[in-house]
Amino acid sequence: MSNRNRSDSESGFPSWADDTLAIRSGFERSQYGEHSEPIMATSSYVYSSAAEAAARFKGESSGPVYSRFTNPTVQLFEHRLAALEGGEACIGAASGMAATATLLLGTLQQGDEIVATRNMFGSTVNLFKNFLPRYGITVRWADSLNVNDWAPLVNGKTRLLYLETPTNPLTELADIRAFADLAHAHDAQLAVDNCFCTPALQKPLALGADIVVHSATKYLDGQGRCVGGAVVGSAELIETLTSFMRSAGPCMSPFNAWVFIKGLETLSLRMQQHCSNAAELAGFLESHPAIRHVYYPGLASHPDAELARKQQKLPGGILSMEVDGDQAAAWRMIDAVKICSITGNLGDARTTITHPATTTHGRMTAEDREHAGIGESLIRLAVGLEDVEDLRNDLEQALNRI
Ligand SMILES: *Cc1c(COP(=O)(O)O)cnc(C)c1O
Repeated sequence: MSNRNRSDSESGFPSWADDTLAIRSGFERSQYGEHSEPIMATSSYVYSSAAEAAARFKGESSGPVYSRFTNPTVQLFEHRLAALEGGEACIGAASGMAATATLLLGTLQQGDEIVATRNMFGSTVNLFKNFLPRYGITVRWADSLNVNDWAPLVNGKTRLLYLETPTNPLTELADIRAFADLAHAHDAQLAVDNCFCTPALQKPLALGADIVVHSATKYLDGQGRCVGGAVVGSAELIETLTSFMRSAGPCMSPFNAWVFIKGLETLSLRMQQHCSNAAELAGFLESHPAIRHVYYPGLASHPDAELARKQQKLPGGILSMEVDGDQAAAWRMIDAVKICSITGNLGDARTTITHPATTTHGRMTAEDREHAGIGESLIRLAVGLEDVEDLRNDLEQALNRI
């Protein structure tokens, strides 16, 4: 591990397919010949001499210095995620929100502007709304994910366009290529939160985006164990963010990095199964009389179905549905499920069921929620890897209780 393959990350990645990169890239065994990647649980490192210590601290000699900013296990995770996203480099962070905050605080300054929609993860909206303005950063809010609504909001001060696609929880899509063109026409950059799709389904950088943000907590882990996040982008950007990380400290733990390394190994297989289970349940729910509407990019009824086919490998593992009734009806259904877990998390082997308006999006103002279309009767289902017949039966018996 100490001699992990630095030359790979410095001169690009091996020319392997993703499934090989996810399992093999960037790892060189230590003198023990361990087959699986070890966890490098150490806060600091020992140098062979005072001169070597000085060279490391100055960055003149490669190798770890202190685990707040370099740890071999974290670096291996960063290497593999960068390889899968097709980015030059990556930085791990303590959580998805720490990754977002590191990107914003590490690159923006007073007077800068960003453009976004309220149709994003609740904490992202709160960070943008409640904190960025305090630092003199203006957020211009677009009304939709239509690029034409964004264009008038972009100006000479705009540094970043920030979006999620598909969105949480309504699975609306943004045309990444069109947003990248808009950003670049104004010397700004496009950042995409790729949490819902992961690089197994969508590659924002290949579509023109400059930066990918991740909550590794979700599908990258895939089994609901750890909180973590990452930013992928140019080597120059990641160097700036590493310098911010060194000063500010929202770093990823080596244990969590190891869990995410294990998660990446099975990511593409898991995503295929999440998608096939979700597609089947979306079809079932859409035809159920107790459901008013199903939001899933794989359904022909979804307004962005064609974009989903173009931009994503598969439609994803998350769907939302409006039950035919009020909040009480939605809660009755949620309370009646037996297999699905009632929890706010997503991207887990276990199917999770959520009432966004009172949980994940509960801290948004009622006005913002209405604006984002997150109503009282909306239920989000992050479809897991259980047998799909069992899931369908569970949902069916719960719907009968509405
Ligand atoms: C969960 C989530 C985040 C935040 O990630 P944490 O790891 O919980 O901090 C950001 N964006 C999206 C789309 C998410 O689902």
